[in-house]
Amino acid sequence: MIKNLLFLTLLSLIIISCAPTNPSHDEHSLLIHNGSFYSPHDDLSQVEAILSKNGVITQLFTDKSWQRDTSNYHQLLDAQSNFVMPGFIESHGHFHGLGSSFQHLNFLSDTSWQQVVEKVSDKVTQTQSDNWVYGRGWHQEKWSIAPTNTIDGYPTHHTLSEISPNNPLLLVHASGHSLFANERAMKTVGINKETPDPIGGKIIRDGNGVPTGVFEENAMQVFNNAYQRHLAAQSQAVKDSIWLDAIELAQVECLRNGITSFQDAGTKNFEIAKYVSLAEDEKLDLRLWVMLRERIENLERDLSQYKVVGAGNGYFTCNAIKTELDGALGAHGAWLLEPYTDKPDFVGQNTTSIEDMTSIAKIAYDNEMQLCVHAIGDKANRETINVMETFKDSTKDLRWRIEHAQHLHPDDIQRMADLEIIASMQAIHCTSDAPFVVKRLGTQRAREGAYAWRSLLDRGAKVINGTDAPVELLNPLASFYSSVTRKHPVNQGDAFFAEQAMTREEAIRSYTLDAAYGAFEEQHKGSLEVGKYADLVILDKNLITCSDEEILDCNVVTTIVGGSVKYRMP
Ligand SMILES: [Zn+2]
Repeated sequence: MIKNLLFLTLLSLIIISCAPTNPSHDEHSLLIHNGSFYSPHDDLSQVEAILSKNGVITQLFTDKSWQRDTSNYHQLLDAQSNFVMPGFIESHGHFHGLGSSFQHLNFLSDTSWQQVVEKVSDKVTQTQSDNWVYGRGWHQEKWSIAPTNTIDGYPTHHTLSEISPNNPLLLVHASGHSLFANERAMKTVGINKETPDPIGGKIIRDGNGVPTGVFEENAMQVFNNAYQRHLAAQSQAVKDSIWLDAIELAQVECLRNGITSFQDAGTKNFEIAKYVSLAEDEKLDLRLWVMLRERIENLERDLSQYKVVGAGNGYFTCNAIKTELDGALGAHGAWLLEPYTDKPDFVGQNTTSIEDMTSIAKIAYDNEMQLCVHAIGDKANRETINVMETFKDSTKDLRWRIEHAQHLHPDDIQRMADLEIIASMQAIHCTSDAPFVVKRLGTQRAREGAYAWRSLLDRGAKVINGTDAPVELLNPLASFYSSVTRKHPVNQGDAFFAEQAMTREEAIRSYTLDAAYGAFEEQHKGSLEVGKYADLVILDKNLITCSDEEILDCNVVTTIVGGSVKYRMP
């Protein structure tokens, strides 16, 4: 007993004395034992311990031989019988946006317009006159108390204009596909009754044609431009430090949630060099894989300088291009084959022309980069599939992706599988949107093609998972819960077409090995195999065997990236 205590004391000294700085890059070994190991590629029930060296898994022990000389290991980690699996890979989120959401007003958890107004009111009193107030995350369909005097389901700007006469307000919808502006902001950008709707955008107006403060899709552009000009007026040093602060906040949030790789759905060209130097300076704590989002002329001119694979020992890759064809369903922006059930004269918005999307596809093809197209409505998905089909080449493994693929015509589900187009879907969107999907699409369309994971998987298509954070909270366990129950983790309610649920195994796969496949990274990530990065997460519930309710109580105990412990539950 005393001997054991002495050993444990010595052991803890060893662990403390070897507190890693950034050991993925130096001589370093980590042995994890006493875990319930799980990997999507194989049955690991016989595995006793996993060893990694220099950030890479080097051995899976199926016997006690790892105990022979434990002084060989720099660090021993007792998983305390918890569930050990590959780290989560967020397949579609907005990394800088996630960090930035902690720097600004965040309305994601607000359940009434009144709460939004109160937050804005507080912020305005702390903000100098003329400075913009920026916030994000409100969603009119998620308010439990309906606001009064709405137009098109939205409140009007008047309350906000009263509480903020001197500060322009820009409050972006949770979907990112509409925004709220006050009178001061509208004056600043020169919007009035006479302003026509731009192509691919809509200004919500009252009965007299006067803008009510809500701007959808391309109608948001003037506000975003004005806000960007306001930001651009800051010194470069201030801008750099705000950007870096956001990245650090995003990293902390990822590690806290067990995410070891993050696929960013829209990185700007100026960010690429910044990420590369962070990766090379060993300042990234998790791995980033990003989709470049730029105007065609920038892509045509500069693409070669933005293509980066595996910088900083596998911490940063930009090898994909993002574009988008439509908006979001909540704001009637999804582009549909047939009109909306609750807006019978409207089929949604086409935000990028097919011609432009085809040009971007050609650029991606010529540069051997993945193409990732945001498509939500069945029309947007069909047009995307049509374009992708023209580039289909049996000699090339393209792995082009449709981001969201939320609503598919039944005929297109098989086409996705046949053309090997990856469905990059966010399970949590399904259950967040559930309260309005049938309203927008009607029962039949919703049943046959909305968030059709089972139909896609059964036909052989790859479905990869994520949250679209900061559109939703980043928590992969919430999205996992939605994947296997088709219920919202908080709002609950009836399951949304439960027959489309994933199995536990499929849901893990969609967040690990298949997510890695979706980025050409399955050789390095997504399973616990010798030769792969030692990117793992330890959870206090067994995601295969625990009850549905227990998923909601599951905690991330430890997050490990490159064989280095990056997060421990407090
Ligand atoms: Zn997104």
